[in-house]
Amino acid sequence: MKIIDGKETAKQIKKEIAAEVADLIDNKGKDPHLAAILVGEDPASQTYVRNKEKSCSEVGILSSVYRYPSDITEKELLEAIEYINNDDEIDGLIVQLPLPDHISEKRVIESINPAKDVDGFHPMNVGKMMLGLPTYLPATPYGIIQLLERYDIETEGKNCVVLGRSHIVGSPVSVLLSRKANPGNCTVTLCHSRTKNLKKIAKSADILIVAMGQPKFVTHEMVKKGAVVIDVGIHRVPSDETKSGYKLVGDVDFEKVAGVASYITPVPGGVGPMTIVSLLQNTLKAARKEVYS
Ligand code: NDP
Repeated sequence: MKIIDGKETAKQIKKEIAAEVADLIDNKGKDPHLAAILVGEDPASQTYVRNKEKSCSEVGILSSVYRYPSDITEKELLEAIEYINNDDEIDGLIVQLPLPDHISEKRVIESINPAKDVDGFHPMNVGKMMLGLPTYLPATPYGIIQLLERYDIETEGKNCVVLGRSHIVGSPVSVLLSRKANPGNCTVTLCHSRTKNLKKIAKSADILIVAMGQPKFVTHEMVKKGAVVIDVGIHRVPSDETKSGYKLVGDVDFEKVAGVASYITPVPGGVGPMTIVSLLQNTLKAARKEVYS
Protein backbone atom coordinates (compact mmCIF):
# COMPACT_ATOMS: atom_id res chain seq x y z
CA MET A 1 0.00 0.00 0.00
CA LYS A 2 1.24 3.48 -0.84
CA ILE A 3 0.21 6.67 0.89
CA ILE A 4 -0.73 9.49 -1.47
CA ASP A 5 1.08 12.34 0.23
CA GLY A 6 -0.95 15.45 -0.52
CA LYS A 7 1.15 17.59 1.77
CA GLU A 8 4.37 16.80 -0.07
CA THR A 9 2.72 17.07 -3.50
CA ALA A 10 1.23 20.43 -2.56
CA LYS A 11 4.65 21.63 -1.38
CA GLN A 12 6.17 20.66 -4.73
CA ILE A 13 3.38 22.34 -6.74
CA LYS A 14 3.71 25.49 -4.60
CA LYS A 15 7.37 25.71 -5.62
CA GLU A 16 6.33 25.47 -9.28
CA ILE A 17 3.65 28.14 -8.78
CA ALA A 18 6.14 30.44 -6.99
CA ALA A 19 8.50 30.21 -10.00
CA GLU A 20 5.64 31.01 -12.40
CA VAL A 21 4.47 33.93 -10.26
CA ALA A 22 8.01 35.35 -10.17
CA ASP A 23 8.21 35.00 -13.95
CA LEU A 24 4.88 36.82 -14.41
CA ILE A 25 6.02 39.66 -12.15
CA ASP A 26 9.51 39.96 -13.70
CA ASN A 27 8.57 39.59 -17.35
CA LYS A 28 5.03 40.94 -17.57
CA GLY A 29 5.03 43.34 -14.61
CA LYS A 30 1.87 41.66 -13.36
CA ASP A 31 1.33 40.89 -9.67
CA PRO A 32 -1.34 38.17 -9.32
CA HIS A 33 -3.89 39.21 -6.71
CA LEU A 34 -6.57 37.16 -4.93
CA ALA A 35 -9.38 38.80 -2.96
CA ALA A 36 -11.46 36.94 -0.38
CA ILE A 37 -14.74 38.07 1.15
CA LEU A 38 -15.40 36.83 4.66
CA VAL A 39 -18.80 37.43 6.25
CA GLY A 40 -19.30 36.89 9.99
CA GLU A 41 -17.21 35.23 12.67
CA ASP A 42 -17.47 31.50 11.87
CA PRO A 43 -14.17 30.08 13.26
CA ALA A 44 -13.78 27.43 10.53
CA SER A 45 -14.28 30.05 7.79
CA GLN A 46 -11.76 32.36 9.48
CA THR A 47 -9.20 29.53 9.56
CA TYR A 48 -9.80 28.68 5.89
CA VAL A 49 -9.35 32.31 4.85
CA ARG A 50 -6.22 32.69 7.01
CA ASN A 51 -4.73 29.55 5.39
CA LYS A 52 -5.51 30.89 1.94
CA GLU A 53 -3.77 34.20 2.78
CA LYS A 54 -0.74 32.32 4.12
CA SER A 55 -0.52 30.12 1.02
CA CYS A 56 -0.77 33.16 -1.26
CA SER A 57 2.13 34.85 0.52
CA GLU A 58 4.22 31.64 0.28
CA VAL A 59 4.05 31.71 -3.53
CA GLY A 60 4.17 35.50 -4.00
CA ILE A 61 0.48 36.06 -4.81
CA LEU A 62 -1.00 39.23 -3.29
CA SER A 63 -4.07 38.69 -1.17
CA SER A 64 -6.71 40.98 0.31
CA VAL A 65 -9.43 39.98 2.73
CA TYR A 66 -12.65 42.00 2.86
CA ARG A 67 -14.38 41.33 6.20
CA TYR A 68 -18.04 42.11 6.83
CA PRO A 69 -20.28 41.60 9.87
CA SER A 70 -22.87 38.81 9.71
CA ASP A 71 -25.69 41.37 9.53
CA ILE A 72 -24.49 42.82 6.21
CA THR A 73 -27.43 42.94 3.82
CA GLU A 74 -27.43 40.97 0.59
CA LYS A 75 -27.57 44.23 -1.35
CA GLU A 76 -24.46 45.57 0.44
CA LEU A 77 -22.60 42.31 -0.21
CA LEU A 78 -23.54 42.34 -3.90
CA GLU A 79 -22.26 45.92 -4.11
CA ALA A 80 -18.97 44.88 -2.50
CA ILE A 81 -18.63 42.10 -5.09
CA GLU A 82 -19.41 44.53 -7.91
CA TYR A 83 -16.68 46.84 -6.65
CA ILE A 84 -14.12 44.02 -6.73
CA ASN A 85 -15.43 42.82 -10.12
CA ASN A 86 -14.50 46.26 -11.46
CA ASP A 87 -11.10 46.51 -9.79
CA ASP A 88 -8.52 45.77 -12.49
CA GLU A 89 -5.83 45.13 -9.89
CA ILE A 90 -7.70 42.06 -8.56
CA ASP A 91 -7.55 38.87 -10.62
CA GLY A 92 -9.45 36.36 -8.49
CA LEU A 93 -12.35 36.65 -6.05
CA ILE A 94 -13.65 34.06 -3.62
CA VAL A 95 -16.54 34.44 -1.23
CA GLN A 96 -16.03 32.16 1.76
CA LEU A 97 -19.06 29.92 2.27
CA PRO A 98 -21.33 29.35 4.12
CA LEU A 99 -23.05 32.73 4.20
CA PRO A 100 -25.65 33.83 6.78
CA ASP A 101 -29.16 32.49 6.07
CA HIS A 102 -30.56 35.86 4.93
CA ILE A 103 -28.12 35.97 1.99
CA SER A 104 -28.68 33.86 -1.13
CA GLU A 105 -25.48 31.95 -1.97
CA LYS A 106 -26.84 31.41 -5.46
CA ARG A 107 -27.26 35.17 -6.10
CA VAL A 108 -23.83 35.87 -4.60
CA ILE A 109 -22.05 33.26 -6.75
CA GLU A 110 -23.87 34.44 -9.87
CA SER A 111 -22.81 38.03 -9.19
CA ILE A 112 -19.07 37.21 -9.31
CA ASN A 113 -17.45 38.08 -12.62
CA PRO A 114 -16.85 34.59 -14.18
CA ALA A 115 -13.36 35.77 -15.20
CA LYS A 116 -12.53 36.24 -11.49
CA ASP A 117 -14.41 33.18 -10.20
CA VAL A 118 -11.32 31.19 -9.16
CA ASP A 119 -13.44 28.83 -7.01
CA GLY A 120 -15.08 27.69 -10.27
CA PHE A 121 -18.59 27.86 -8.79
CA HIS A 122 -20.21 30.31 -11.26
CA PRO A 123 -22.70 28.55 -13.60
CA MET A 124 -20.68 29.79 -16.60
CA ASN A 125 -17.55 28.03 -15.32
CA VAL A 126 -19.47 24.90 -14.29
CA GLY A 127 -20.89 24.79 -17.83
CA LYS A 128 -17.42 25.16 -19.35
CA MET A 129 -16.21 22.29 -17.15
CA MET A 130 -19.09 20.09 -18.36
CA LEU A 131 -18.12 20.85 -21.97
CA GLY A 132 -14.41 20.28 -21.35
CA LEU A 133 -13.58 23.90 -22.22
CA PRO A 134 -10.75 25.81 -20.49
CA THR A 135 -12.04 27.07 -17.16
CA TYR A 136 -11.33 27.31 -13.44
CA LEU A 137 -11.92 23.81 -12.12
CA PRO A 138 -13.39 23.69 -8.60
CA ALA A 139 -10.51 23.43 -6.16
CA THR A 140 -11.07 20.09 -4.43
CA PRO A 141 -11.88 18.05 -7.56
CA TYR A 142 -8.95 19.72 -9.36
CA GLY A 143 -6.70 18.75 -6.42
CA ILE A 144 -7.88 15.12 -6.62
CA ILE A 145 -7.22 14.98 -10.38
CA GLN A 146 -3.72 16.32 -9.83
CA LEU A 147 -2.97 13.73 -7.13
CA LEU A 148 -4.00 10.92 -9.51
CA GLU A 149 -1.86 12.48 -12.23
CA ARG A 150 1.24 13.05 -10.10
CA TYR A 151 1.07 9.51 -8.67
CA ASP A 152 0.75 8.07 -12.22
CA ILE A 153 -2.46 6.30 -11.32
CA GLU A 154 -4.05 4.78 -14.42
CA THR A 155 -7.66 5.92 -14.77
CA GLU A 156 -8.54 4.87 -18.33
CA GLY A 157 -11.18 2.13 -18.39
CA LYS A 158 -11.31 1.92 -14.60
CA ASN A 159 -14.47 1.68 -12.54
CA CYS A 160 -14.64 4.79 -10.42
CA VAL A 161 -17.22 5.12 -7.66
CA VAL A 162 -17.85 8.53 -6.09
CA LEU A 163 -19.70 8.62 -2.77
CA GLY A 164 -21.41 12.02 -2.38
CA ARG A 165 -22.87 14.35 -5.03
CA SER A 166 -22.28 17.86 -3.67
CA HIS A 167 -21.83 20.70 -6.16
CA ILE A 168 -18.35 21.40 -4.81
CA VAL A 169 -16.86 17.89 -4.70
CA GLY A 170 -18.79 14.75 -5.67
CA SER A 171 -20.60 15.96 -8.81
CA PRO A 172 -17.67 17.81 -10.41
CA VAL A 173 -15.16 15.04 -9.68
CA SER A 174 -17.55 12.54 -11.30
CA VAL A 175 -17.68 14.77 -14.39
CA LEU A 176 -13.91 15.20 -14.56
CA LEU A 177 -13.17 11.48 -14.25
CA SER A 178 -15.70 10.50 -16.90
CA ARG A 179 -14.33 12.99 -19.46
CA LYS A 180 -12.34 11.87 -22.48
CA ALA A 181 -9.07 12.98 -20.93
CA ASN A 182 -6.16 11.83 -18.86
CA PRO A 183 -6.85 11.59 -15.93
CA GLY A 184 -10.37 10.62 -17.02
CA ASN A 185 -11.90 7.93 -19.24
CA CYS A 186 -13.28 6.14 -16.18
CA THR A 187 -16.69 4.53 -15.97
CA VAL A 188 -18.15 6.52 -13.10
CA THR A 189 -20.93 5.64 -10.66
CA LEU A 190 -22.12 8.51 -8.47
CA CYS A 191 -23.74 7.45 -5.17
CA HIS A 192 -25.72 9.46 -2.61
CA SER A 193 -28.08 9.05 0.30
CA ARG A 194 -30.79 7.43 -1.84
CA THR A 195 -28.47 4.89 -3.49
CA LYS A 196 -29.43 1.27 -2.96
CA ASN A 197 -26.64 -1.29 -2.38
CA LEU A 198 -24.07 1.46 -1.80
CA LYS A 199 -21.66 -0.90 -0.04
CA LYS A 200 -21.76 -3.39 -2.91
CA ILE A 201 -21.24 -0.61 -5.48
CA ALA A 202 -18.33 0.83 -3.47
CA LYS A 203 -16.71 -2.59 -3.47
CA SER A 204 -16.79 -2.71 -7.30
CA ALA A 205 -14.56 0.40 -7.50
CA ASP A 206 -11.02 0.42 -8.83
CA ILE A 207 -10.94 4.06 -7.74
CA LEU A 208 -13.12 5.05 -4.78
CA ILE A 209 -13.61 8.75 -4.04
CA VAL A 210 -15.39 9.50 -0.79
CA ALA A 211 -16.95 12.92 -0.10
CA MET A 212 -19.90 12.25 2.19
CA GLY A 213 -19.24 14.15 5.39
CA GLN A 214 -19.65 10.92 7.46
CA PRO A 215 -16.69 10.18 9.73
CA LYS A 216 -15.04 6.78 9.08
CA PHE A 217 -18.04 5.62 7.02
CA VAL A 218 -15.99 3.52 4.59
CA THR A 219 -14.55 0.37 6.14
CA HIS A 220 -12.44 -2.43 4.66
CA GLU A 221 -15.53 -4.55 3.81
CA MET A 222 -16.54 -1.85 1.31
CA VAL A 223 -13.22 -1.71 -0.55
CA LYS A 224 -11.91 -4.07 -3.23
CA LYS A 225 -8.40 -5.36 -2.70
CA GLY A 226 -5.99 -3.11 -4.60
CA ALA A 227 -8.40 -0.19 -5.00
CA VAL A 228 -7.23 3.43 -4.97
CA VAL A 229 -9.01 5.30 -2.17
CA ILE A 230 -9.32 9.08 -2.08
CA ASP A 231 -10.77 10.45 1.15
CA VAL A 232 -12.12 13.99 0.95
CA GLY A 233 -13.89 14.05 4.32
CA ILE A 234 -12.51 16.00 7.22
CA HIS A 235 -13.87 15.89 10.76
CA ARG A 236 -12.60 17.01 14.13
CA VAL A 237 -13.33 14.27 16.66
CA PRO A 238 -12.52 14.07 20.39
CA SER A 239 -9.39 12.05 21.13
CA ASP A 240 -7.37 11.19 24.23
CA GLU A 241 -4.35 10.36 22.02
CA THR A 242 -3.51 14.03 21.42
CA LYS A 243 -2.59 16.96 23.64
CA SER A 244 -5.25 19.17 22.07
CA GLY A 245 -7.95 16.63 22.95
CA TYR A 246 -9.10 16.19 19.35
CA LYS A 247 -7.88 14.72 16.09
CA LEU A 248 -8.85 14.90 12.44
CA VAL A 249 -10.38 11.91 10.67
CA GLY A 250 -11.83 11.42 7.20
CA ASP A 251 -14.86 9.69 5.73
CA VAL A 252 -12.71 6.54 5.44
CA ASP A 253 -11.61 4.36 8.33
CA PHE A 254 -7.95 4.75 7.41
CA GLU A 255 -6.47 2.05 9.67
CA LYS A 256 -8.84 -0.62 8.36
CA VAL A 257 -8.88 0.40 4.70
CA ALA A 258 -5.11 0.89 4.40
CA GLY A 259 -4.80 -2.92 4.65
CA VAL A 260 -6.73 -3.51 1.40
CA ALA A 261 -6.08 -0.40 -0.72
CA SER A 262 -3.19 -0.06 -3.19
CA TYR A 263 -3.08 3.73 -2.69
CA ILE A 264 -4.82 5.82 -0.05
CA THR A 265 -4.92 9.49 0.97
CA PRO A 266 -4.49 10.18 4.69
CA VAL A 267 -6.49 12.75 6.70
CA PRO A 268 -4.97 15.20 7.38
CA GLY A 269 -2.33 15.55 4.67
CA GLY A 270 -4.17 14.08 1.67
CA VAL A 271 -6.74 16.01 -0.33
CA GLY A 272 -6.86 19.05 2.00
CA PRO A 273 -3.50 20.65 1.09
CA MET A 274 -4.25 20.14 -2.62
CA THR A 275 -7.44 22.18 -2.41
CA ILE A 276 -5.57 25.38 -1.54
CA VAL A 277 -2.94 24.69 -4.19
CA SER A 278 -5.66 24.43 -6.84
CA LEU A 279 -7.00 27.82 -5.80
CA LEU A 280 -3.52 29.31 -6.24
CA GLN A 281 -3.25 27.71 -9.69
CA ASN A 282 -6.62 29.16 -10.68
CA THR A 283 -5.52 32.60 -9.48
CA LEU A 284 -2.40 32.34 -11.61
CA LYS A 285 -4.55 31.37 -14.61
CA ALA A 286 -6.76 34.40 -13.94
CA ALA A 287 -3.77 36.74 -13.72
CA ARG A 288 -2.49 35.37 -17.04
CA LYS A 289 -5.97 35.73 -18.56
CA GLU A 290 -5.81 32.10 -19.69
CA VAL A 291 -9.53 31.42 -19.37
CA TYR A 292 -11.10 34.78 -20.28
CA SER A 293 -8.94 37.16 -22.31
P1 NDP B 1 -22.16 17.63 1.48
O1 NDP B 1 -22.69 17.45 2.85
O2 NDP B 1 -22.51 18.83 0.67
O3 NDP B 1 -22.57 16.34 0.61
C1 NDP B 1 -22.51 15.06 1.14
C2 NDP B 1 -22.95 14.06 0.10
O4 NDP B 1 -22.84 12.76 0.66
C3 NDP B 1 -24.40 14.24 -0.35
O5 NDP B 1 -24.49 14.01 -1.73
C4 NDP B 1 -25.15 13.17 0.44
O6 NDP B 1 -26.26 12.64 -0.26
C5 NDP B 1 -24.09 12.08 0.58
N1 NDP B 1 -24.29 11.31 1.80
C6 NDP B 1 -24.25 11.76 3.07
N2 NDP B 1 -24.47 10.74 3.92
C7 NDP B 1 -24.67 9.64 3.17
C8 NDP B 1 -24.94 8.27 3.47
N3 NDP B 1 -25.05 7.83 4.72
N4 NDP B 1 -25.04 7.41 2.43
C9 NDP B 1 -24.92 7.83 1.16
N5 NDP B 1 -24.65 9.12 0.81
C10 NDP B 1 -24.54 9.99 1.81
O7 NDP B 1 -20.59 17.44 1.62
P2 NDP B 1 -19.32 18.06 0.82
O8 NDP B 1 -19.18 17.41 -0.51
O9 NDP B 1 -19.34 19.53 0.91
O10 NDP B 1 -18.16 17.55 1.80
C11 NDP B 1 -17.94 16.18 2.05
C12 NDP B 1 -16.83 16.04 3.07
O11 NDP B 1 -15.64 16.55 2.52
C13 NDP B 1 -17.04 16.83 4.37
O12 NDP B 1 -16.46 16.09 5.43
C14 NDP B 1 -16.27 18.11 4.15
O13 NDP B 1 -15.81 18.69 5.37
C15 NDP B 1 -15.11 17.59 3.34
N6 NDP B 1 -14.49 18.58 2.46
C16 NDP B 1 -13.13 18.61 2.45
C17 NDP B 1 -12.47 19.45 1.59
C18 NDP B 1 -10.99 19.42 1.57
O14 NDP B 1 -10.39 20.33 1.05
N7 NDP B 1 -10.36 18.37 2.10
C19 NDP B 1 -13.19 20.38 0.70
C20 NDP B 1 -14.62 20.21 0.74
C21 NDP B 1 -15.24 19.33 1.60
P3 NDP B 1 -27.56 13.52 -0.67
O15 NDP B 1 -27.10 14.39 -1.82
O16 NDP B 1 -28.57 12.52 -1.10
O17 NDP B 1 -27.92 14.31 0.54
